[in-house]
Amino acid sequence: MGRRKLVVGNWKMNGLKAQLGEVEDIGALAARHPAVEVGLCLPATLIAPAQGVKGAAFIGAQDCHMHGSGAHTGCLSAAMLAEAGAGWTIVGHSERRQDQGETDADVAAKALAAKAAGLKVILCVGESLDVRDAGHAESVVSAQLLASLPQGAAADWLAIAYEPIWAIGTGRIPTMEAVEAMHRALRAALATKIGAEADGMRILYGGSMNGDNAAELLAIGDVDGGLVGGASLTAAKFAPVIAAA
Ligand code: PEP
Repeated sequence: MGRRKLVVGNWKMNGLKAQLGEVEDIGALAARHPAVEVGLCLPATLIAPAQGVKGAAFIGAQDCHMHGSGAHTGCLSAAMLAEAGAGWTIVGHSERRQDQGETDADVAAKALAAKAAGLKVILCVGESLDVRDAGHAESVVSAQLLASLPQGAAADWLAIAYEPIWAIGTGRIPTMEAVEAMHRALRAALATKIGAEADGMRILYGGSMNGDNAAELLAIGDVDGGLVGGASLTAAKFAPVIAAA
């Protein structure tokens, strides 16, 4: 299956307008690597300002509300993010599952809300270190994925990011064999729900991906790209990851 590599930066709660130069430089990098789909999921405050400088990179959000409007102080609907210029959004990042108590059902509802507003979606799943150490990572993450999967999941609007929680921001990554086994397991799990559509769905790896390990990770057959935190904050750090894809 020809799955175009997808490499997306997640800036989390980092970035002011002073960093738009990095967005511009990453947009220029994306233009030099047209075979790779490159994006930046920015803080919501930077989505509109980034429109003038994004170059060939798409701009995405990091979360959206599951409802279209209403009494939800401080929240942003998918339509608001789309209007600001987002083309994608992340849902179900482990930091939100932990910090905001988001459930699998919430994540599925957010993905559907994003789709309804015309956004494409990166849906995150991943295991804790306890689960990994207990030897249950593949079954637990597969179950999490199936419980978080929205109705009508399809490869043209949804990508999955496998992000072991213990690898995020820690500099630690699983063995290549463990990544390969997990991505194979997740694709098999997807196939039980969406059949052959699973062959086209991109499954990204995320968790301390950087210029030193990206080539090896991205060479794994079922790894279709990366969701990259710290190493996406500057063009200099992100460049080797994009080049490796
Ligand atoms: C992330 O939070 O999505 C992530 C992968 O972060 P980092 O690359 O910094 O581990």
